[in-house]
Amino acid sequence: MVSVSYVVLVDITTNGNRRIYRLRTEYPISTYLVAIYSSDYEYFSDEYISLDGIDTMQVEYYVLPDKLEEAKIDFSTHIKMLEVFSKLFGEYPFIKEKYGVAEFLWYAGAMEHQTITGVSSNMISGKKLFEDTFVHELAHQWWCNAVSPKSWNEIWLNEGFSAYSEALYFEAQSGKKALQSTMRSKYSDNFSGTLAEPGPFLFTRTVYDKGAWVLHMLRWEVDDSSFFKILRTYYETFKYSNASTEDFKDVCENVCGKNLDKFFKQWIDGKGEIKLKYKTAVVKSGEQYKIKIQLEQVQEDYEEYHFPLEIKLIFTDSTEKSFRYDITSKDTLLEISTDKFPENIELDPDNWLLATINLKEE
Ligand SMILES: [Zn+2]
Repeated sequence: MVSVSYVVLVDITTNGNRRIYRLRTEYPISTYLVAIYSSDYEYFSDEYISLDGIDTMQVEYYVLPDKLEEAKIDFSTHIKMLEVFSKLFGEYPFIKEKYGVAEFLWYAGAMEHQTITGVSSNMISGKKLFEDTFVHELAHQWWCNAVSPKSWNEIWLNEGFSAYSEALYFEAQSGKKALQSTMRSKYSDNFSGTLAEPGPFLFTRTVYDKGAWVLHMLRWEVDDSSFFKILRTYYETFKYSNASTEDFKDVCENVCGKNLDKFFKQWIDGKGEIKLKYKTAVVKSGEQYKIKIQLEQVQEDYEEYHFPLEIKLIFTDSTEKSFRYDITSKDTLLEISTDKFPENIELDPDNWLLATINLKEE
């Protein structure tokens, strides 16, 4: 029998037929993140070296004997994940202790216990079918375990952040297309409730997936370099303590120097998502083409969103030109002049917005 928990092992002594584990932790921990796993585990491990090269940390895996070979395949990317997140967010928060994954006999799912994530047996297949879940649980060590929300209602600070971290990991591995396809998998045109008041059942798609979309849109609103600085500052400021949505907003505004009242009001307090209808017309005037784009927000759940919208023109010679507009009203008329005929006009071509965008039917 092998037992493992959220701390580092000091020693094991034997007293008759009992084995006594002495454990130690130097990090604060929420009570619900404490776990003790005990079984006839097989053990294997890996080593993670901190970004500054000073610390070497064990990454430990505990699985039942019949899953050993599959687990060695499925768990092999954890070192890469630790490196990606440490670079993006700041060093792994429990570097003086460990990270680990232990198999448990839960029907399906995983749980981000501090320094020792639990994953259900049927997630271990040897085919890396649940890599997104392993990425998500590791991200929780930053967003949930190190920076914990001040109240349960602010659970999107855990789940939305970890859901978006999946997209960030796949982007780091495979580029922008992977970011976009991960975000599309989290898309819905029917998110219920709000992030501010998720309701009695906290773990909804709104909390996970709309939460991830809010971070994605924040990145588009403030630009990449501010966004990653925001994540690093938020983590550095609140690690080993608690933060609220308001605390996160303060960090965002301090880093990017912009007032984000409207952004947080519409996406955290507001319901639903953008529903945009548009119509285009191209008129030749002298040597120029005048493009008129008429936009109308038609969502019923929220009166008027403000957002930056990218418009991409693709010309007959396959060249492209992009424009970025701040949309600040329900009805908007945009006018663009070009010297070439635009064969295609694309709105939000890179999927930065939680929006359904459709041509207006006449
Ligand atoms: Zn989660």
